[in-house]
Amino acid sequence: MRLFLAMLSHETNTFSNVPTDRAQFEARDLRYGGEIVEAYRGTGTCLGGMIAAAERLGATLVPSVAAAASPAGYVTRDIYEHVKQRLLADLQAAGRLDGVLLDLHGAMVPEGVDDGEGDVIAAVRRAVGPTVPIAVTLDFHGNLGEQMITEADLLHGYKTYPHVDMAERGVEAAERLAQVIGRRIRPTAAWRKPPLLPPLGSQNTARGPMRRLYDLADEMEKDPKVVSVSIFAGFPYADIPDTGLGIYVVTDHDQALAERLAGRLARAAWEHRHEFVHEAPGVKDAVAKALAAEGGPIVLADMADNTGGGAAGDGTEILRELLRVGARRAVVACLWDARAVQECMKAGVGARVTLAVGGKVDDRHGAPLEVTGTVRTLSDGRFVHRGPMMTGLPGRLGPTTVLDVDDVKVILISYRWQTLDPEMIRFVGIDPLTEKILVVKSTIHYRAAFEPIAKEIIEVDAPGLSSSNLARFDFRRIRRPIFPLDPDTVYEPE
Ligand SMILES: [Zn+2]
Repeated sequence: MRLFLAMLSHETNTFSNVPTDRAQFEARDLRYGGEIVEAYRGTGTCLGGMIAAAERLGATLVPSVAAAASPAGYVTRDIYEHVKQRLLADLQAAGRLDGVLLDLHGAMVPEGVDDGEGDVIAAVRRAVGPTVPIAVTLDFHGNLGEQMITEADLLHGYKTYPHVDMAERGVEAAERLAQVIGRRIRPTAAWRKPPLLPPLGSQNTARGPMRRLYDLADEMEKDPKVVSVSIFAGFPYADIPDTGLGIYVVTDHDQALAERLAGRLARAAWEHRHEFVHEAPGVKDAVAKALAAEGGPIVLADMADNTGGGAAGDGTEILRELLRVGARRAVVACLWDARAVQECMKAGVGARVTLAVGGKVDDRHGAPLEVTGTVRTLSDGRFVHRGPMMTGLPGRLGPTTVLDVDDVKVILISYRWQTLDPEMIRFVGIDPLTEKILVVKSTIHYRAAFEPIAKEIIEVDAPGLSSSNLARFDFRRIRRPIFPLDPDTVYEPE
């Protein structure tokens, strides 16, 4: 069994002014051929799962390209075309294939293409013809579109947020693909797109409305006729028509059953739509609450400045307030400001510097903040994720420095990366457990690793491009009406 393997992953925040160009992919991942298998084998990622399952099944992998970049603005035309053409050329050169495994995201918006994944899958379909099955893993935040569904045989969305099941989904996609190749199942899909736009902050699968939906899905999957159920919470900051919640059910050759289950899930999502509205205290209230709390560490979740959701990662409003009130034993993890890192490096460890940090990307994350502090440490920004997300995967934050401003430690990084692992604090020599306040730039992912160590978590409604306060955004292209932007939206699931 010969299986083609490729990855192209990006979550595009169309409100961001940071173009996702070739350099952004090179900073994160852009590799080709056999190197992909070596880099991802044994990691907690979709590729890791696909590789493990393929090797167990005795399949021969034909690895092509793996490309990923941190979420930001539109993927530029040239890097998108480069990856797509490379993938198609490799397909051409691959010879006979039994199946195709793609690790995609679902919320990628290249310049001029609303549905990036639909476009990629359709191109692969044209290349391999109608009979070679295609199985795709998609992020929980995929904005499900018709082209993805009609051109692929199988879509497997992550079932968790924080995403701790990526490897499992990769295994599932490879195993199900092998079943299709062996003609043991005939995938038959149904899908629904209720007019629902859940903000990131209410998409946690540990509790709340998404948990309820996945409990239902887990029950459905016990039926041997059900191949898989994916409920995509969607990525609300891609202002395209397909954005929002998506439901996708695959059965073994039973269309009526697929339709019935998809309808049931759509109904359940709609009935509980009000639970998707997210509320959190503003910056001043949240900081005051953290200062008044007993013990520590208290996590202040800077949900709206999550680079994993395409925000700048250089938001200053919480830091500004911490300094204003004279907070003690606080850490800001992490602030993206390569220029400030360079200034600190030039000054050297122990030097006293005055400089403007953050707020440089746009006017949506607070203004630059002038601070005077001492350079505590310098680092090359290399660490290894300890999990539970992306366990074992090397992380690269680029040149990194810790700047002590009064009693607030500001971790300044050169490559954008979401604070989803306390290792991003530990590797620069700070013990998160001995700090009072940890400002973490993440919406939900941080919970997997920080909930076990946090005394308390306080979500903050600060400004930023991953805000769960959807009223902060000027949507123009999303389909309307949609809840909660249009509170009176009517939907009658059949
Ligand atoms: Zn995601």
